[in-house]
Amino acid sequence: MAAKIQANFFLPSFTTPTSKPKPRFHSLTISASKSIPGRKLRAAVIGGGPAGSSAAEALASGGIETFLFERNPPSVAKPCGGAIPLCMLEEFDIPHHLIDRHVTHMRIFSPSNIAVDFGKTLKPHEFIAMLRREVLDSFLRSRAHSAGAIPVSALVTGIDLPTTATSPYTIHYSVNGSSRRSLDVDVVIGADGANSRVAKSIGAGNYTCAIAFQERIKLPGEKMAYYENLAEMYVGDDVSPDFYAWVFPKCDHVAVGTGTVRSKQDIKLYQRGIRERVRPKINGGKVIKVEAHPIPEHPRPVRVRGRVALVGDAAGYVTKCSGEGIYFAAKSGRLCGNAVVSASEGGERMIDECDLKREYLRVWDAEYVKTFRFLDVLQRVFYGSNASREALVELCGDEYVQRMTFESYLYKKLARGVVWNDAKLLVNTIGSLVKSKVVQRQMEGLVL
Ligand SMILES: Cc1cc2nc3c(=O)[nH]c(=O)nc-3n(C[C@H](O)[C@H](O)[C@H](O)COP(=O)(O)OP(=O)(O)OC[C@H]3O[C@@H](n4cnc5c(N)ncnc54)[C@H](O)[C@@H]3O)c2cc1C
Repeated sequence: MAAKIQANFFLPSFTTPTSKPKPRFHSLTISASKSIPGRKLRAAVIGGGPAGSSAAEALASGGIETFLFERNPPSVAKPCGGAIPLCMLEEFDIPHHLIDRHVTHMRIFSPSNIAVDFGKTLKPHEFIAMLRREVLDSFLRSRAHSAGAIPVSALVTGIDLPTTATSPYTIHYSVNGSSRRSLDVDVVIGADGANSRVAKSIGAGNYTCAIAFQERIKLPGEKMAYYENLAEMYVGDDVSPDFYAWVFPKCDHVAVGTGTVRSKQDIKLYQRGIRERVRPKINGGKVIKVEAHPIPEHPRPVRVRGRVALVGDAAGYVTKCSGEGIYFAAKSGRLCGNAVVSASEGGERMIDECDLKREYLRVWDAEYVKTFRFLDVLQRVFYGSNASREALVELCGDEYVQRMTFESYLYKKLARGVVWNDAKLLVNTIGSLVKSKVVQRQMEGLVL
């Protein structure tokens, strides 16, 4: 396989950069059911995170000539909690030896520090997998390479858009920070995360972002033992005005962090808040890394334009409430890669915007829009004030709520409940919110 990668790398038309044409954001939808004589469809995937590697693997396996661009070496970790759901292990064949921790206990703490254990309904084989991103990303990337995707270790610096329905996109990139090169491709998949250059280059519009801040803290042995298989979530105005703070166990340390959309300038204040709440448990620990990164709050206004598609964080696929994005990145990357393979009949014909919208966007939206909206509503209801957060934690004590939540998270299906239990849950939810004066205040607001 190494020989193939080496040989292919020099085949396409790598050119030296010329003068930059002005960006044109119009859609190239003219029918393009043209065969591509003498070669296969050529795709560039920008970004080698879970979204990009999954897209590249699907493309290369389906017969597309695929280039996977990644600016960072394998040792660089994307700032992330690294928690993934059970279903991802099976769906993406993730070997169990990559998992640092099997979390079987979740504890959620209310603003007044009432703690509720949240993993009581987990079955013996169920757990949340905690991985280091550098480990997961390296694995997914090398699997894409083994499938035939050609690795390009480079920073993509710009993309020239085509002038006709079949002319190429030119990817400009720099190797080792200096040497500048370019590559012509038919299709581009933007998997370059929250600050996506690909999104900018096609005028995909912006999304609101949260900022997440995280410290990796190495704990003394006995303190680390406490977090053996336990993850903690904290809610309250002191740790975030609109999200939760966390302590996640990693291989030999814990990740302690928080996030916010509304008050990004105060993120360090909230980080002090979570440190204060967990002080007795992390005392004596040593900070080994500090990291921060944006998290998209909703999908971009445009996710497909011409023969360019955005996936993962670049598209904005992170759920509200939980801030979860790894699974959705890998899933959207794979779906998009398969969409290109299917629309191009295994790389034999040119594709167009309609193909990408039909085979990728429509399928994605049909599968996930409801889940994303549901979690958005939950975040608005339960993270808005300390009173509603107390209600949230109280509800988390309910075994039915726990089962439904874990089933939805672990298996990525909105769990189907029992009608009677759902009705009881609704009554309990309203009861908790009334007790916490959330509903009362909203009613008063309406009367006034
Ligand atoms: C602090 C924090 C904690 C989180 N915790 C969790 C969690 O526990 N569980 C969970 O599911 N989600 C979590 N998330 C969200 C999750 O990290 C993202 O949703 C996920 O990484 C998205 O994957 P991606 O492949 O789309 O993008 P990324 O993982 O961001 O990958 C993008 C890749 O593109 C590369 N790249 C970018 N620009 C260029 C360029 N110009 N040229 C070449 N390469 C480029 C980058 O180097 C990177 O490797 C967390 C996020 C943060 C910030």
